[in-house]
Amino acid sequence: MDESNENIVNEGDTPESAGNEEHQPDAKIFEYFEEDTIQQKVSYGKVLLMLHELTKIDEELAEIDDEKGDLPVRIENLKERMLVVEQHLTEDKAKLKTFETEEKALNKENKSLDDKVTKYDESKYKAKNNKEYDEITKQIDAMMETIDKNDARLKELKAYQENLVKGILEMSKSYDELKAELKEDTTHLNSLNKQFEDEENELIEKRKVILEKLDNNHKTLYERINGSLKGEATAIVRKGNCSGCYNSVPPQREIEIRMAEDIFLCQSCGRIMIDEKLIENL
Ligand SMILES: [Zn+2]
Repeated sequence: MDESNENIVNEGDTPESAGNEEHQPDAKIFEYFEEDTIQQKVSYGKVLLMLHELTKIDEELAEIDDEKGDLPVRIENLKERMLVVEQHLTEDKAKLKTFETEEKALNKENKSLDDKVTKYDESKYKAKNNKEYDEITKQIDAMMETIDKNDARLKELKAYQENLVKGILEMSKSYDELKAELKEDTTHLNSLNKQFEDEENELIEKRKVILEKLDNNHKTLYERINGSLKGEATAIVRKGNCSGCYNSVPPQREIEIRMAEDIFLCQSCGRIMIDEKLIENL
């Protein structure tokens, strides 16, 4: 791009700045172009070429993304799944502990009740009368009832614990599998990142330089389209067709695109349209 184009870009973007003092040294160039329809054609031409350049950079960045494939997403996914398993494991381990504590307490209670029953059984024969004997028997029965109740609960707890232990083992196994998978994917991604690091940084830097030269409207427009069509924000109009979606471009629009009088988007795919002649001159 030569000096004259630079000024014409500014003129085309902000016509009011045409007479700006800053452009005074090149004023004669404006005068020359102001009487010429070529003026606007050249102005958007430079913007379009910059957008074309950006697209090529983003295409390379998209290729690098492709090389990495779904690894970054997979890694995030694995981390989330591990977190869920970890939470379940923590919950179940806590439950198991509660059951174990209850089990211990019940066993302790039964042991002391057993001892008591033995003692009462012995004292039963030392009873002074029937009333005392009946009283002791009643107490033994009550204790035996508690022991039975505790035994039933202990049986229930045992079943719960067995299930929990089984579940914890299964979860631990799947946690370890996820961990191994994560390690493998992370190692793979790290090596790819390292491999592409320099290339990527260089592209990002080149991208930054071009973006700084664009005005905000063009920058926003480009980034918006590039957001959904990474590396494909611009399309070439070739033989009346959009290279992005292969739909035909109306003849009148094709002429306007060739004139580069404005930034035109493909009516079918929304890409920024660039006439092939503009690129050929590169
Ligand atoms: Zn299209």
